[in-house]
Amino acid sequence: MIAVVKETATQEQLDSFIQWIEGRGFKTNVSQGDNETIVGIIGDTTQIDPFLLEQMDIIERVQRVSEPFKKANRKFHPEDTVVDCGYGVRIGGGNFQVMAGPCSVEGQNLLTIARAVKEAGATMLRGGAYKPRTSPYSYQGMGPKGLDLLMEASAELHMPVVTEVMDPRDVQLFLDKGVHVMQIGARNAQNFPLLKEVGRTSTPVLLKRGMSMTIDEFLMAAEYVMSEGNPNVILCERGIRTFETRTRNTFDVNAIPVLHHLSHLPVVGDPSHATGYTRYVRSAAYAATAAGADGLEIEVHDKPSEAWSDGAQALTPSQFADAMRRVALIRQAVTADISEEDR
Ligand code: PEP
Ligand code: MN
Repeated sequence: MIAVVKETATQEQLDSFIQWIEGRGFKTNVSQGDNETIVGIIGDTTQIDPFLLEQMDIIERVQRVSEPFKKANRKFHPEDTVVDCGYGVRIGGGNFQVMAGPCSVEGQNLLTIARAVKEAGATMLRGGAYKPRTSPYSYQGMGPKGLDLLMEASAELHMPVVTEVMDPRDVQLFLDKGVHVMQIGARNAQNFPLLKEVGRTSTPVLLKRGMSMTIDEFLMAAEYVMSEGNPNVILCERGIRTFETRTRNTFDVNAIPVLHHLSHLPVVGDPSHATGYTRYVRSAAYAATAAGADGLEIEVHDKPSEAWSDGAQALTPSQFADAMRRVALIRQAVTADISEEDR
């Protein structure tokens, strides 16, 4: 349930209203926008009589929210959330960012790749130090040493780092190392203890959509993080599993506007895992940009044939630079200021 507060309400009145609601065992989520203040009421609100609330001096109107996701819901928070990822890099609400780098951190070549992607216009550095591999015999990642390499590259280039955390027991290590954005991978998108653990921090979380997740399940995964207190969630559409075998996954471009409609959280597209093949990655990146994504996550490797993981979908630095120039043109088209009637 949401209660829209009248513009004339004072802070004191708002505080006492919140106290009154919380005193009845409900949680609240206050969204103070430019035009209106909304109090989201979370709990079994069937016990609340909306007419009773509407009679209160400071309440403009009350609306039931039927979706099970509350904090991630745009009805609770009509304005786009902007997530601050560090080094002045903000994503969402019109801020578009590109995260690029190798699938896995492999060693010193990370710096070479990081410099190249920055030069081409990437604003965040990605790379996995802990890899969720389908086979236990595949390369599992460098671990803490990989995090150190990422943080060294980050410090040199002033770029926030995005890297995957797979185990709730590692979250503290990621915080100690100063990781800017913790990625939750597709295979862990419903690992609820992990979602709760990152939810107990205030570090931004890049939450990938699980391979067979519906959009509602995806938003409920975001809700797990947010319900623990961390509002800094970035959603990532990275392709879902379908009957199609010609690509690694099927890129659900639809999910981008649907997520924007349902939620205020920033939405990123990952064309690398969505397609699985270098030759298709750029087309999917353009589609995500055209669909209004707030950013992209793209795998780039200086020598894709020698990559320790996901070489088949890596762009070379020059392919990435080409993609970035075209993405910038598409962004111009998508954000161009055209009059309301033409839209
Ligand atoms: C990755 O980003 O390298 C990765 C493993 O992604 P996903 O979890 O989407 O498969
Ligand atoms: Mn990968």
